[in-house]
Amino acid sequence: MSLPLYLIGARGCGKTTVGHALAQALGYNFSDTDHHLLQATGASVSDIVAAEGWDGFRRRETAALKAVTAPSTVIATGGGMVLADENRQFMQQHGRVIYLYALPEVLVARLDASPEVAQRPTLTGQPVAEEMAEVLAQREALYQLAAHHQVDAMQSPDEVVKAILTSLSLARA
Ligand code: ADP
Ligand code: MG
Repeated sequence: MSLPLYLIGARGCGKTTVGHALAQALGYNFSDTDHHLLQATGASVSDIVAAEGWDGFRRRETAALKAVTAPSTVIATGGGMVLADENRQFMQQHGRVIYLYALPEVLVARLDASPEVAQRPTLTGQPVAEEMAEVLAQREALYQLAAHHQVDAMQSPDEVVKAILTSLSLARA
């Protein structure tokens, strides 16, 4: 299989961490849409949102998704990538879409422990725990709608990679 593999899910579910490990396991390239945006614009997510609002960020995110799509590539997507119909359809048509799911309290604990958390703008200005529960409740159905595969992301990164590989090979059998 050389179709691109898209990892979707909330902030902190492990798209970047697991994506790197999955790419290594498969001998694939790795791309991250947030990282691509940062390189293409020279601005962080926070900078773009401050200058152009979330709508401007979302337009650039769609362009980034298309730009990084290539065969034999694991693609970590931004947490809100599934919000646009266009993005969901594009991912479904061009590759396999894998949803890394985790409970909100697990995600909050990871973000609290991560030094990058301060660089990620909150969507609503609420405390992280409340916002996470609310954002997940809004997006859960879209993650499920977009995904070909769903994997429990509350296991260790190695176990998540194994679960993804198993799910992909079962789908091929
Ligand atoms: P995302 O790219 O989905 O926002 P990251 O890969 O950046 O998530 O992970 C967010 C934080 O959670 C990081 O500090 C990372 O080390 C940690 N993390 C990611 N996956 C796991 C995992 N399966 N188990 C424990 N910690 C994890
Ligand atoms: Mg990431």
